[in-house]
Amino acid sequence: MSHFDYIIIGAGAAGLLLADAITQDDYFASSSILIIDRDNKTTNDRTWCFWEKNEGKFDHLLHKSWPSIHFAGTGFEHSASISPYQYKMLKGIDFYNHYLNKIKKHPNITWVKDRVTLIEEGENKVLVTAQNGFFTGAKVFNSWLNHQNVTAQKKYPLLQQHFVGWFVKTEKAVFNSKEATFMDFSIPQKGNTRFMYVLPFSETKALLEYTLFSEETLEKSEYEEGIRDYIEQNLENTAFEITDVEQGNIPMTCYGFHKHNSDSIINIGIAGGWAKPSTGFTFYNTSKKVSALVEHLKMNRPLSKFYKRDKFWYYDLLLLDILYRDNHLGGSIFESMFQKRKPQLILKFLDEETSFWEDLKIISACPKLPFLKALWHRIF
Ligand SMILES: Cc1cc2nc3c(=O)[nH]c(=O)nc-3n(C[C@H](O)[C@H](O)[C@H](O)COP(=O)(O)OP(=O)(O)OC[C@H]3O[C@@H](n4cnc5c(N)ncnc54)[C@H](O)[C@@H]3O)c2cc1C
Repeated sequence: MSHFDYIIIGAGAAGLLLADAITQDDYFASSSILIIDRDNKTTNDRTWCFWEKNEGKFDHLLHKSWPSIHFAGTGFEHSASISPYQYKMLKGIDFYNHYLNKIKKHPNITWVKDRVTLIEEGENKVLVTAQNGFFTGAKVFNSWLNHQNVTAQKKYPLLQQHFVGWFVKTEKAVFNSKEATFMDFSIPQKGNTRFMYVLPFSETKALLEYTLFSEETLEKSEYEEGIRDYIEQNLENTAFEITDVEQGNIPMTCYGFHKHNSDSIINIGIAGGWAKPSTGFTFYNTSKKVSALVEHLKMNRPLSKFYKRDKFWYYDLLLLDILYRDNHLGGSIFESMFQKRKPQLILKFLDEETSFWEDLKIISACPKLPFLKALWHRIF
């Protein structure tokens, strides 16, 4: 059985960013690292969007970036520059190719394609069982999500950000390629929080995503019908062809994923609760968490101590409580926020970088009653 200093389970966003950060740092130069994934990571299985001020470390890999965003609700719509932010898009395949190439060149990296079936903590090491072999590690970073941990509890509501996205090529020039539609709530809500997400690459090419923040997923045909209706009603009913498809389902919850960490095992990425509970945005936060985790490792601190709960967790909890009980309210909450506050402040808030006074500005822009009710329910 082979032994490693570090085992990274999952070569997705979190696993590859962590492996890259470790291999870039001399502190880990003599450490042995195993990366194990059930998949080869050779397909474009997703695109990541995030916002960032000015230039950033993923810029050379970006597929597209937008200097402005558009927001639409039922009674209000607005386009605005988000300077100094840019809204950026990265294709999964470009990310995988770049990081796999870079990481695999390091002599201390071992890459295994296998499905992990069990992770067990021993006295001084962790045993990782996969379908075709066993490995031990001093420290294990796990991005294999155990859904049951979240679904088996009732303390924290579990919603999902679920969507189907079509990459389309339209006959008419209907898109503004300088602007990403962050959220368009003008579509029928049908008792839920539903919006369209539109990412144009040119006047005739875009990714259109029919997205919900809700408890239950839909039949695939319903998302597809939503996209078709949007093209008919908002995009001059242009003829179009679908060039690619993506779909996703991201857990939205304040559940304490960190409870499953130990001194030598830590859950990372979505499995570690690194998705923003109220929006599902995960990618950029993961890159920030990875940097913090590497510093934590260098201080030789137990992995169980890599956790902090801050004010943003409470804000997210209240919003999720509201959306869980009254799922139709999401559109009006976001609309009120975008109507009253600058997008830069909202993006900063969603990035969890606002001061308390800035938080109050955002909170005061939201409808009060649902939040007071949610607070009351939480306390009592
Ligand atoms: C289609 C889609 C679009 C998204 N778009 C955005 C976005 O625009 N912005 C954003 O911030 N977030 C987005 N997300 C959410 C989130 O950023 C991604 O899901 C991100 O990939 C999560 O990173 P991760 O490392 O936690 O999981 P993943 O990237 O899914 O990586 C997990 C890895 O673990 C492997 N694995 C799982 N189980 C096992 C096992 N038992 N044994 C071995 N290997 C295993 C998988 O093969 C995978 O490679 C999107 C998600 C999806 C699905």
